[in-house]
Amino acid sequence: NSSLHEVDPDVAAAVDAELRRQQSTLEMIASENFAPVAVLQAQGSVLTNKYAEGYPGRRYYGGCENVDVAEDLARERVKALFGAEAANVQPHSGAQANAAAMFALLDPGDTIMGLDLAHGGHLTHGMRINFSGKLYDVVAYHVDAATGLVDMEEVERLAKEHRPRLIIAGWSAYPRQLDFAAFRRIADEVGALLMVDMAHFAGLVAAGLHPNPVPYADVVTTTTHKTLGGPRGGVILSKQEYAKKINSAVFPGQQGGPLEHVIAAKAVAFKIAATEEFKDRQRRTLEGAKILAERLTRPDAAEAGVAVLSGGTDVHLVLVDLRESELDGRQAEDRLHEIGITVNRNAIPNDPRPPMVTSGLRIGTPALATRGFTADDFREVADVIAEALKPSFDKDKAEALAARVTALAEKHPLYPGL
Ligand code: PLP
Repeated sequence: NSSLHEVDPDVAAAVDAELRRQQSTLEMIASENFAPVAVLQAQGSVLTNKYAEGYPGRRYYGGCENVDVAEDLARERVKALFGAEAANVQPHSGAQANAAAMFALLDPGDTIMGLDLAHGGHLTHGMRINFSGKLYDVVAYHVDAATGLVDMEEVERLAKEHRPRLIIAGWSAYPRQLDFAAFRRIADEVGALLMVDMAHFAGLVAAGLHPNPVPYADVVTTTTHKTLGGPRGGVILSKQEYAKKINSAVFPGQQGGPLEHVIAAKAVAFKIAATEEFKDRQRRTLEGAKILAERLTRPDAAEAGVAVLSGGTDVHLVLVDLRESELDGRQAEDRLHEIGITVNRNAIPNDPRPPMVTSGLRIGTPALATRGFTADDFREVADVIAEALKPSFDKDKAEALAARVTALAEKHPLYPGL
C-alpha cells in the first residue's frame, strides 16, 4: 500500500512536473480540457481492478454488481444528455468508438465518405494508413477554398457518383457548424447511413449551444475528454435498431474487458455536463473563441500576416492561417510555447508546407474556460498571442508576454488542492 512517491519516485516526479506544467501555462490545445477532481477520483479508483466483459446484467464474470451500477448510470445519463435511444459507453477512445461503429455498420470493401484529413477531418474518417482507409474504399470531401466551409455541393455530387454505404460528418479542425439536415438529406438520396463524429463539439451540444446531431444521424460517436471535459474515452450513441449490432461490434468485436474505472468517470462527467455551471463554461468557451478570432483579425495582426480561416468561428477553436506570415506553423507553435501558451500547429486546407511544418495553428478555448477564464481574460490572452506572432517579437517582448501569461495563470489557479 505504499504511495506512488515511495514505489516509483521517477514516475511520481513526471506526474508532479506535469501538474506544475498544467498549472503554470495556458493550455489552448483545442482537443484538451481539465477533468474535474471528481472525474480523476473515479478514474483512479479500484474499479480499475475489475474484469467485466459483457454489458450490465449480462456479464461473463462474477462480482460485477457494482460496476453494473456505474455503467448503467453512464449509459442512462449520456442518453438523457443527448436525447439518444441507445448508448455504448465502453469504447476506450474516440478512434475505437469509430472503429466499432464502422465495424457494426459496414463490410470491408464498402465505400465511406469523410472530410479529408488535410481539410480538418480525423484519421478515422478514411486516412490512407488508418484502419478506415485500409478496410474501406474512401471518398474524401473537402472545404471550399474561398469560404473555408465544407462544400456541400461537392458532398452531394460525390455521394451521387460513388453511392457510399456510410457518410461521416465530423471534424478535428474546423471552425464552423456542419449542416446535419443537409447531410441527412444527401444520405437519404443515395441510400447511405449517416454517422456524425461529434468528438470535438459534444460539450457544446450538451450545453445546447450547438445543433444536436442525434436526431439526424443513424449513429453518433464522440470522445468524452474534449469539450465534454471528462476522462479520456469514447461513446457510441445510436438509434435503437443499431444498438445490438453496435454492442457486439464493441465487445467482442473490437475490445475485451471494458475500463470500468473510466466508465465510472464518464458517468460523473455526464452528470456534471447536465449542470448550469457546465453550460456557463461552454458559453465562455464559445465567447473566448469568438474574442480570439476577432482580435487575431484586427489590422495589426493582418499586417503580421495572421488571418483566421473562414473569417471567424462558431465553435471552441480558431484556425490561424499563417500563409502570409514570416512564421510557419512550427515556428509559431514554438514561439507561443516559449511564452507559456500551448497550442498545436495544424495543416490548413491546401497547405503549401509539409505536415510536420504546416502553415496554421489550431487554438482552442475549452481548457481555459474550465479554469474560469472570463471574456476579459480571453481578450488579454488573445492580445498576448497577437503580439507574440508579430515580426517585432524579441527577447524583451518574450519576457513581458511570459509575465502576462503567468499573471493569467495565477489569477485562475488550477487544481489548487492537488
Ligand atoms: N474523432 C475526432 C473528430 C477527433 O478529433 C478525435 C481525436 O482527436 C478522435 C475521433 C479520436 O479520439 P481518440 O484520440 O480518443 O482516439
